[in-house]
Amino acid sequence: MAGEPQDDCLFCKIVAGHIPATIVRETETTVAFRDINPQAPTHVLVIPKAHYKDAAALAAQAPQLAADVLAETQAVADEDKLESYRIVFNTGAGAGQTVWHAHAHVLGGRGMEWPPG
Ligand code: C5P
Repeated sequence: MAGEPQDDCLFCKIVAGHIPATIVRETETTVAFRDINPQAPTHVLVIPKAHYKDAAALAAQAPQLAADVLAETQAVADEDKLESYRIVFNTGAGAGQTVWHAHAHVLGGRGMEWPPG
């Protein structure tokens, strides 16, 4: 069922505390933790605690939760004192999504180029 934890999901395991992560923020509905393979001085993932396979499913099926995730990206940026930063939701394999639990990448602390690769 939508939102239910999935046994084979890495990020559901992080939410449950079964896989370690460097958690920087936690709310009733979200967790933010440092990416294990950082692509910038700040690289934090913000995830909903509930399982949705990608940002599209999250926005369609749980719009308030999507708003919670977005609000937390701002909180992470504030905590790391980022004046500018990039929020990325890779959605689908062709866009680089590798973990099938919706997550926002918050990237900052260095200059960014456009267009992204
Ligand atoms: O957007 P994408 O699905 O590729 O992002 C998944 C991210 O999860 C990667 O940046 C990867 O480094 C990160 N990751 C992590 N901790 C894990 C496994 C993956 O931070 N245990």
